Amino acid sequence: MSPVLASRAADPADLVIRGARVVDPRAEIGEPRDVVVRGGEIAELAGAGEAPNPEGAEVVEAEGMLVTPAFVDPHVHLRVPGQEHKEDLETGTRAAAAGGYCAVVAMANTSPPIDSASVLGSVRELAEQEAAIPTGFVATVSRGMAGEELTEMAELRDAGAVGFSDDGLPIANARVLRRALQYQRLAGGVIALHEEDPDLSRDGVMHEGEVSALLGLAGIPGSSEATMIARDCALALDEGARVHVQHLSARASVEAIAAAKEAGAQVTCEATPHHLVLTDEEVRSLDARFKMNPPLRAEDDRLALIEGLRDGTIDCVATDHAPHALEEKEVPFEQAAMGVTGLETAFAVLHTELVLPGTLPLELVVERMTAGGEPFGIPAPRIEPGAPANLALIDSDQEWTVGAEGYESRSENSCFAGRELTGRVLMTVAAGAVAYRQRSFAMGVAE
Ligand SMILES: [Zn+2]
Ligand SMILES: [Zn+2]
Repeated sequence: MSPVLASRAADPADLVIRGARVVDPRAEIGEPRDVVVRGGEIAELAGAGEAPNPEGAEVVEAEGMLVTPAFVDPHVHLRVPGQEHKEDLETGTRAAAAGGYCAVVAMANTSPPIDSASVLGSVRELAEQEAAIPTGFVATVSRGMAGEELTEMAELRDAGAVGFSDDGLPIANARVLRRALQYQRLAGGVIALHEEDPDLSRDGVMHEGEVSALLGLAGIPGSSEATMIARDCALALDEGARVHVQHLSARASVEAIAAAKEAGAQVTCEATPHHLVLTDEEVRSLDARFKMNPPLRAEDDRLALIEGLRDGTIDCVATDHAPHALEEKEVPFEQAAMGVTGLETAFAVLHTELVLPGTLPLELVVERMTAGGEPFGIPAPRIEPGAPANLALIDSDQEWTVGAEGYESRSENSCFAGRELTGRVLMTVAAGAVAYRQRSFAMGVAE
């Protein structure tokens, strides 16, 4: 794992996971194996039932289960510094590990924002004490996220920023973004963009469409996102800079990315599980758990995201895990905070709603969920001898109800609360150490 990520020290694992189907799309395995982890490294991939039981190693009988490379989330909000009542590095990374993640990239729209080497240094130090899995931090593009003056991007890179983002807000001023792209080319790291045109979004609280008209709520049109993506991809192409577009939600956005890639722009992008499986129909309930930015859009948009994920226009899955306190959500829809949690449910949601019905193959979902670090220079984990152990053990048949046993996150604003899902992460190994075990999961430590 890349040295710019920070996490607390943990004992390297010694494990034998027996007989699980190993699904690593990059290695084209796809069949039952014994995965031997020694001293935190994948030591061997033996035929099922063939690996010996090394002394002192934990043995997990995993026939009928799945082992995948652990996932990497390019977009989470850990709320540190300043909003620890919503989440902190310990609870946020524990939620990530519970979702099968071995690394996350934390956004910088904190209080204060991560816009100086000193704030960045202090969160990275805290991550070395508290983070259950390797955590990368972006720094903001603009000072105070005001969208005017740029941060010291080169200095922030030296201080360990994996990239730059003003996420939470767009960079409305094209001249400011253009200068940022020029510095990015020199400093390295990617600029991750939350795309919306503030003049088009204005005071919108949901997708602008039939449902918003019916409810009489102010809408955010899909074009608010797509026009900014087109603008920023054109700037990136002109400047020879690299951008990563966050949380795509609209069909026109997928088309804008496809056109930019075709034109040779260095652009990657992500989509969230909630935009891939839910639509603005959910908002009819006026339940604030369905309020996020960008908003849930129409069925046609959702289908375009799925197609984009399938054909590679969309490079990776991001949760945009955005914890909020109850009092920020238990208010009328129009006043509620935007954002939903998502780390603990991402795999199960995509598995239940897209893989089991046959919409997308499991291998593709695993590929896109493990690719999230690549825009930030964090390589996708691999299950191969000699690699550090980054893997998720999953019971793909286990049914569970979201939230029934509470959450690892400090917040519970999940838009999937109460849903029945199929597929559960039982154990996560991150950077060679066991980072999570599901409560019901009985261990089989060698007697
Ligand atoms: Zn955003
Ligand atoms: Zn975000």
